Amino acid sequence: MDSSTRRQRSEQHLLSALGQTPGATRAQLAEATGLSRSAVAETVAGLIAGGRLQELAPAAVPGRRGRRPAVLVPIPPDGVVIGLDLGHSHLAAAVADATGTLLASDRQEANVDREALGALDAAGRMVADLLTRLGIDRADVRGAAVGLPGPVDLSRTVRSRSILGGWVDLDPAREFGDRLGVPVQVGNDADLGALGELRFGAARGHADVLYIKASHGIGAGLILGGRSYRGATGLAGEIGHTQVPGAAEWCRCGNRGCLETVVSVGQVRRQLELVRPGVAGLLTTIPKDPVSTRILREAGRTIGQVVAGLCNALNPGLVLLGGELGASGEPFVSGVRDAVAQYAQPATAAALVIRPASLGLGAELQGAVALALAGA
Ligand SMILES: [Zn+2]
Repeated sequence: MDSSTRRQRSEQHLLSALGQTPGATRAQLAEATGLSRSAVAETVAGLIAGGRLQELAPAAVPGRRGRRPAVLVPIPPDGVVIGLDLGHSHLAAAVADATGTLLASDRQEANVDREALGALDAAGRMVADLLTRLGIDRADVRGAAVGLPGPVDLSRTVRSRSILGGWVDLDPAREFGDRLGVPVQVGNDADLGALGELRFGAARGHADVLYIKASHGIGAGLILGGRSYRGATGLAGEIGHTQVPGAAEWCRCGNRGCLETVVSVGQVRRQLELVRPGVAGLLTTIPKDPVSTRILREAGRTIGQVVAGLCNALNPGLVLLGGELGASGEPFVSGVRDAVAQYAQPATAAALVIRPASLGLGAELQGAVALALAGA
């Protein structure tokens, strides 16, 4: 390897480490990259000289004296975009460069469904904090996109009084635009999960993909013929409101017996709580004993039955399972596989790969970044 290739590799290595922890010190970078301190110093000097990195004074810590080391943050060459992902109970924001690499991100709990204005204000503050942390001026923000966990039609309006009720009379694009100071595109979260996987994840190079967001609600993002498919009015993929045989519970959509009344993160948690009182945390972290394995497998089978119908209709090559259930591990995934093998046409099922989303819980946020880049 010649010295310029070696330098380029060190630069990429260091910039990607800074992408994980923007605002790292030189010592932290040496630890994260495994480069020697002198190699870090040399690479940093080259990047600063090339206008790709800046050195900022660290934030003051009250009550602490003494000089603290400067922190390093990358300077994106072609501006940045902002991605936002709102779930029913969380909001996440990221600042990404023109290649879609996340420079900084943050996530917090929030009652997004009912307190729309509170969530909007919190998102605005979160983005302002991220930009400050990165030392990036608002003038360098090229665009933004946000995913909402509900039916968003082609006019970018939330179309359900019972799902995301707090958002119905709002114009989300304008509300976010006012708070972020840039034009904002709005999409459905499952659609953005599919887009994230298509641009940055396991769906790259695939033309026909189903992305299933299995979380507090269940939605599908469709990639058909290599493009995001949203239907005549933008509401395609609302599979959470498919009738499940034998189910009769009332659903938040106003119907009875919907898939979401049988399977959701909330339902699975309640079932786990019955047999394993005190189980807490993300479903990804719960111990997989025989009972919890069975509960997750059955949740997968129930969703898989609905996915099988979609596979019969659309003949995708790849099904990616996202959301907290999709990321919960093998029992859920094999439950979906079992049901698709049983209920889809054999030739359709045989040509199909079913696996967890490669971007995990970050697929929707990466999709928002992809949408922002596409529109910027
Ligand atoms: Zn429903």
